[in-house]
Amino acid sequence: MNHIQPTNILQEIYRLYDGYIASFAPGAIACRKHCADCCTSNVTMTRMEGLLIRESMGREQMTARLPDISSSVFPRYRPGLSTNGYVLACKSGGDGDSESFAEEEYPEGEPPACPFLEQNLCSIYPVRPFGCRCMLSTRPCAQTGCADIDELTLTVSTVFLQFIEHIDQDGFFGNMTDVLHALSADQTNAFRAHGVIANHPIPALMVPPEHRARMQDIVFSLNRLLTGQPPAP
Ligand code: SF4
Ligand code: SF4
Repeated sequence: MNHIQPTNILQEIYRLYDGYIASFAPGAIACRKHCADCCTSNVTMTRMEGLLIRESMGREQMTARLPDISSSVFPRYRPGLSTNGYVLACKSGGDGDSESFAEEEYPEGEPPACPFLEQNLCSIYPVRPFGCRCMLSTRPCAQTGCADIDELTLTVSTVFLQFIEHIDQDGFFGNMTDVLHALSADQTNAFRAHGVIANHPIPALMVPPEHRARMQDIVFSLNRLLTGQPPAP
C-alpha cells in the first residue's frame, strides 16, 4: 500500500471507472438523471466509501442525520459476505474464515428508498458508493423490474469492487446505513455490533477466461493506483 490518503486512492479508482463508462457507445446505457428505481435501502459499501461520504458531508452533519437515516431504511439488505470474502469462500470450498461471515438478511418486498435520494436525485452524487456507480443497465429497470447489465461490465465492476475492498482491507463492509453507523461507533471492533463484516485483501481476481484480454489494461491501471503511480496516459 502506498502513502497516499486511502480516500484519494478511492477517488482515483472512481475516476478510472468513469473512464470505463465513457467508453460505452452513445445510447448503450439506459441510466438517466431522475431515473432512480435502483436507489433503494439495499446499497452496500466499504468503510472507506463511508469515510469519503462523511468527509464530504462533515462529521457533525452526518451524526445529526444518522437517526433519520436508519429509521427510514429498515428493513434493509445485509450481506453475509464481502466481494473478496465470497472469493475466499469459493477458494476454500465454502468454509472460509467463519469470523468473516454473517447471516445474509434479504427482507422480502419493496425496499424503502435510499435515505440520500431527494426528489429523485442523489444528494451525495460525487461521493456515492461504487455499488451505485456500477448500476449500468442497458434497459430502464422500470421495464423489467431489475437492471440488465452486460457480462463484461459485470466482470469489470466486480474487479473494481475487489480493489476497493483491498485498499480498505482492515476495514469493513455492509449495508450503507450500517456502515455509516459503524463509523460513528469509534471503538475498536465496535463495528461487529452494527451488522457489518470484515473486509479482505484480494485472494484472486474474478475474471472469466473470455474477459482476460479485455481486463489486462484495467487491472494494470488499478495496480498502478495501488502502488502510488499515476494512471498511465
Ligand atoms: S440502474 Fe435502472 S433505475 Fe438505476 S438509473 Fe439505471 S436504468 Fe434507472
Ligand atoms: S447513494 Fe445516491 S446513487 Fe446511491 S442509492 Fe442513494 S441516492 Fe441512489
